[in-house]
Amino acid sequence: MDKLYSPNTIRKIKEKYGFHLSKSLGQNFLTDANIIDKIIEGAQIGETDLVIEIGPGIGVLTAAAAAYARKVIAVEIDRNLIPILEETLKEYENISILHADILKTDLIAVLEQNKEINKTERTGVKIIGNLPYYITTPIIMKLLEEGVPVDSITIMMQKEVADRIKSGPGTKAYGALSVAVQYYCTVVPVASVPKEVFIPQPKVDSAVIRLDLRKEKSVKLLDEAVFFSVVKYGFGKRRKTLLNSLTGVMGKTKEEIAEALTETGIDPMRRAETLSIEEFASLSNRIAEK
Ligand code: SAM
Repeated sequence: MDKLYSPNTIRKIKEKYGFHLSKSLGQNFLTDANIIDKIIEGAQIGETDLVIEIGPGIGVLTAAAAAYARKVIAVEIDRNLIPILEETLKEYENISILHADILKTDLIAVLEQNKEINKTERTGVKIIGNLPYYITTPIIMKLLEEGVPVDSITIMMQKEVADRIKSGPGTKAYGALSVAVQYYCTVVPVASVPKEVFIPQPKVDSAVIRLDLRKEKSVKLLDEAVFFSVVKYGFGKRRKTLLNSLTGVMGKTKEEIAEALTETGIDPMRRAETLSIEEFASLSNRIAEK
């Protein structure tokens, strides 16, 4: 019998169900056992863990995760994949398939419904997924901003987005996404993934990273909204000096921004891409106090 991840299985499923891979849903299916193992190992799934998988496709990662986890909840938007998943995963009693859009799913409520699984203290909640490229950032930001109580998020994404998430000040890839994700998480690189392991093959290479949610955020903020506005304004016009890019943030005048920068020891002529998260924090705290 063909393995679930084999190209032959995908071909047979397409024939049997009249299934067409949807480009608009970012359907690039994994066909490499090594990469599947790396994602599952990278996610550090334990036998008492509850796993939520985003976008199971035909279930290759779902089946692999179910071998380690207490329970896997797989959230798939494509109605046509539901009967396929019901068949490919029928031998697993610890998998639930949820037909839903992850961006519209109340994951806090889903966790609440599964709280009997969280009986033991050691139980963790881990999110995994090989994400559609076009919604990688909204999905990550939704999970982080809504404060869904998870331990980690292990996801495959476009290499370029992974680079942006993990980069630090002074690099081209450093931006609002790096600051936002690193505020909530520590970033652990898991694997580099060549485009050849997908059907159909995407145009770009991918990477898997794990985001470990911090118990305490990386910096202390007086007001998160002010911090994120400062970051957004700063990187919105990243070629401008901070004095110019930040004028107008929270309704502040140029003079007020100049004052806040000087008071926090940041040269007003610097650019946002040179600021560490700690500097963004002290600057936004100062602006919040004004
Ligand atoms: N996990 C499978 C694999 O690795 O072979 C499939 C990965 S494929 C890149 C992305 C999957 O996410 C597809 O099955 C797609 O239908 C699903 N998807 C796309 N948008 C979604 C959304 N908003 N909510 C849930 N699933 C979504």
